[in-house]
Amino acid sequence: MKLQEIGEFGLIARIRKWMAASNPSLIQGIGDDAAVIDIGERGDKVVLVTTDILIEGIHFDRTWIDPYRLGKKSLFVNLSDIAAMGGTPKYFLISLGIPINLPFSFVSLFYRGLKDGAKKFQVDLIGGDTSLSKKVVINICLLGEGKRQNLLFRKGAQVGDDLYVSGTLGDAALGLKILRKKGLKKGPKGLVEKHLSPSPRIQLGKAIGKHHWATAMIDVSDGLLIDAKHLLEESKVGARIWEDRIPLSRIYQKWIHFYSKDRYQLALSGGEDYELLFTAPTQRRGKISALARSSKMITRIGEILPEREGFYIIKKDGKEYSPLRLGFEHFG
Ligand code: ADP
Ligand code: MG
Repeated sequence: MKLQEIGEFGLIARIRKWMAASNPSLIQGIGDDAAVIDIGERGDKVVLVTTDILIEGIHFDRTWIDPYRLGKKSLFVNLSDIAAMGGTPKYFLISLGIPINLPFSFVSLFYRGLKDGAKKFQVDLIGGDTSLSKKVVINICLLGEGKRQNLLFRKGAQVGDDLYVSGTLGDAALGLKILRKKGLKKGPKGLVEKHLSPSPRIQLGKAIGKHHWATAMIDVSDGLLIDAKHLLEESKVGARIWEDRIPLSRIYQKWIHFYSKDRYQLALSGGEDYELLFTAPTQRRGKISALARSSKMITRIGEILPEREGFYIIKKDGKEYSPLRLGFEHFG
C-alpha cells in the first residue's frame, strides 16, 4: 500500500494501533496536542510533552524566513500545542540537522530568535542534538506542566455544545500565498507577518482550562476544518459551522479576492493560524463573552451535533456542504 492512499492521519492512526501504550501513569498518549503523564505529585500536577518537526523546503523556505524568526517560530508552534491543553510550557530540547554550507550567522541568529521566544514565555532550553544533513531540519520537544483537572483534551465535546475559535483565521495561509507569489519585500506586511511570526495563545489556553467552562480544545495548526475534524473524531460527535461567522481580519478581507474566488477557503482550510478551537455548553455563553472581551477575541462559529449527523458547513444562503478537501495533510 502507498502512503499517499492512507494519508498522514491514516498513518498516525495505524501507528497508534501498533504502539498501544501500557504504562498506567500515561493519561493521554497519541491522539492529542500533547501527551499527558501522571508524575504522582500531590495537587494533581501532570507533565505535558509535545514535539514538532520543521523541514526546509516543506515547512519553510530560507528565502522567505530569516533565521531569527525561524528560531522563534520553531518554538512557538510547540508552545501552541501546550496552549491547546491549557498547560504551562517549561523546558525544551532542540535537535538540528545542518547542511555543511550553512553560514554560522544563520545558526547564531536562529538561536537569538529562539532565546527571545523562550524568554517571552519563560521556557528554558535544556538540551538537544546536532547532525549534518542535506536540508535544515528542526525538531523541538517541549515539556510543560498543568493541573490535571484544568487540562482540556480533544475528546470531551458534548452534543449541544457551542464551538468557539479565538482570533481570526486564514491570515497566515494568505500571507504564505502572498510570500510565494510576491516574495518577502512586496506583500502586505500584516498577513506575511502572521505566517512568519505566529503567537501561541498560552494565556488564553490557561484561562479557558482554569475556568472549567470548556469541554474540549485543540489548536488550529493544519486548518480549521481538519483540526475541527480531529476534535470531533476524538469526541465521537459531529458539528455544523456557520461559514459567515468565521472571524476574518480586515486585512484578510481586503486581500483575499486577489488570491481566491472563495472568500472563506483559506480561513477554512489554510493552516498555521495557531488559534484555539474549543467547545463549551450553551449555559456558558455569558461567561465566554466576558472572557472574549477581557482577553483575545473569541467567536462562536458552530455547534456540536450527534456523530451520525456528520460535519458540515452552512453558507450564508442556507446551503449546506460537507468539506471535501479539509486542509493540509502530508502525503495527502
Ligand atoms: P499536532 O498537529 O497537534 O502537532 P499531529 O496531527 O501532528 O498533532 O499529531 C496527532 C497525534 O499523533 C499527536 O498525539 C502526535 O504526538 C501523534 N504523532 C504524530 N506523528 C507521530 C508518529 N510518527 N509516531 C507516533 N505518534 C505520532
Ligand atoms: Mg496541535
